[in-house]
Amino acid sequence: MSSFKKGGLFILSSPSGAGKTTLVKKISKHKSYSVSISHTTRLPRPNEKNGKDYYFISKNAFKKLIKKNEFLEHAKVFDNYYGSSKKLVTKKLKEGKNVIFDIDWQGTRQIRNKKLKYKLLTIYILPPSKKELLRRLNKREKKNLKTVKKRMKEFKKDLSRWKEYDFVVINDNLKSCYKKIMSIIKSNKKISFDRNFINKHVKRLMI
Ligand code: ADP
Ligand code: 5GP
Repeated sequence: MSSFKKGGLFILSSPSGAGKTTLVKKISKHKSYSVSISHTTRLPRPNEKNGKDYYFISKNAFKKLIKKNEFLEHAKVFDNYYGSSKKLVTKKLKEGKNVIFDIDWQGTRQIRNKKLKYKLLTIYILPPSKKELLRRLNKREKKNLKTVKKRMKEFKKDLSRWKEYDFVVINDNLKSCYKKIMSIIKSNKKISFDRNFINKHVKRLMI
């Protein structure tokens, strides 16, 4: 542990709609935590702002950034490209900040494999039930059936990735889930969790 530099990388992943963006936003209100704002080729949602929620760019511009090796990690998710800027993340880490990522399992794998000289903690968020996940997706996507269907289609595949993460939390009540995440992030030890309980929960979600 002592060979790690100040600052760290904290990754939150989940099936779409489980609440990671909401949680990441809450965490980033703390001074020492800063969100890695991703680049994406997806269109902005009505409430999303360029440079705040994402850097919204074209597929061509994204491909150019890949060629220039500008991404710490990048992946195709739901037919769109998403990536974390190496420059932006490095700058924050050098300032001693804790960088919070809202990225999928593919990007998490890429960052894990880099074995950076910073603390890395990966957290997987689960919804309380499939019904509630669908309700949250419908609410956020304003019942855009095509988008909701596509995200629900990937749900099971995404769920199976929980085993690759350091910690798993169920986002039922937002406040208590946030509290749990903060205590994990702030703790410098590896905190264990009830794998059996989570395994059973995931099995129920898969039905
Ligand atoms: P994700 O980033 O994982 O796709 P979001 O953070 O966008 O998910 O959350 C999806 C929707 O669910 C949003 O409308 C959000 O306000 C809502 N939401 C998030 N957490 C909870 C919760 N614990 N209880 C109820 N609604 C929630
Ligand atoms: P959304 O379109 O709902 O904002 O995000 C869709 C998925 O892409 C989510 O799982 C989100 O975590 C993931 N995502 C967002 N930004 C990045 C990124 O920079 N890299 C990777 N690999 N995934 C991302």
